[in-house]
Amino acid sequence: MINILWFLLGFFGIEVIATLIHKYLMHGPLWFIHESHHRPKGKFELNDLFAVLFGGTGIWLLIAGSLADFDYRFWIGLGTSVYGGVYFYLHDVLVHRRTFSAKTPEITYIQALRHAHRMHHKHVNKMPSESYGLLFFNWRYISEIKKAK
Ligand SMILES: [Zn+2]
Ligand SMILES: [Zn+2]
Repeated sequence: MINILWFLLGFFGIEVIATLIHKYLMHGPLWFIHESHHRPKGKFELNDLFAVLFGGTGIWLLIAGSLADFDYRFWIGLGTSVYGGVYFYLHDVLVHRRTFSAKTPEITYIQALRHAHRMHHKHVNKMPSESYGLLFFNWRYISEIKKAK
């Protein structure tokens, strides 16, 4: 039972951590890396380095936890890894269409999420921007989608 809580901590905790890293580091001192995601030039971006780092941390947690009789690290790592998969589908497939094309589901939450992240990309400079998280965003994007329907 407690394992589910570790899993949820990993899943939602990484959203909070990624939001803070995005806002204060990527749009701060690490802009020289993140810039490649706001002004993409080709199939791959220098910014993909962050995906490798986050993914690597998740894999490390999965391995370390499974070697220690599947302790809390395994479940946190599972949470962050599942989040990575969800993030890839929502961010790279639905918002940026970087890979196979998929239709955006007619679900207000997903449409608003897509809208919120597109508004983040309206800005091509380091500052200012908006909507640094992915799963959590301002309610106003929901009402904007509802109004447009
Ligand atoms: Zn950004
Ligand atoms: Zn993006």
